[in-house]
Amino acid sequence: IERTFSIIKPDATKRNLTGKINAKFEEAGLRIVAQKRIQMTLEQAGQFYAVHKERPFYGELCEFMVSEPVVVQVLEGEGAILKNREVMGATNPADAEDGTIRKEFALSVGENSVHGSDAPETAAEEIAFFFSGLEIV
Ligand code: ATP
Ligand code: MG
Repeated sequence: IERTFSIIKPDATKRNLTGKINAKFEEAGLRIVAQKRIQMTLEQAGQFYAVHKERPFYGELCEFMVSEPVVVQVLEGEGAILKNREVMGATNPADAEDGTIRKEFALSVGENSVHGSDAPETAAEEIAFFFSGLEIV
């Protein structure tokens, strides 16, 4: 059974969409095995998105991620990484399939409501960045 890391981003927590987004995960067969609401620091956001450091939107992305609290979570299920990315939909909501989280809730390519790990290595790294083993049950 696979685990992936997820963030409900500031645009979504601000609009009180945490429960609706979690319902999408659960309906898709993903189990929320760890979850906490945190205020990310600019340093954490910068480190978390370090792979995008050279991209033009890096600064804006980091500022956005600290603009409101976020909900960080670990999702578990068969093929959880891919399944979660299917439920999220395309990065740009204009390209996202009907029924996906980003199609229904995202405001723009930047304020796109959720993050999900893209591969087993990044999932393991991202889970360890925010959670200790004891917090995942
Ligand atoms: P995530 O990594 O958040 O799950 P993703 O893998 O679909 O999303 P990435 O290409 O890894 O997308 O980009 C990371 C995040 O950076 C996006 O989710 C989005 O919030 C932001 N982003 C990506 N492209 C742009 C852009 N052109 N303008 C503004 N923000 C962007
Ligand atoms: Mg990504």
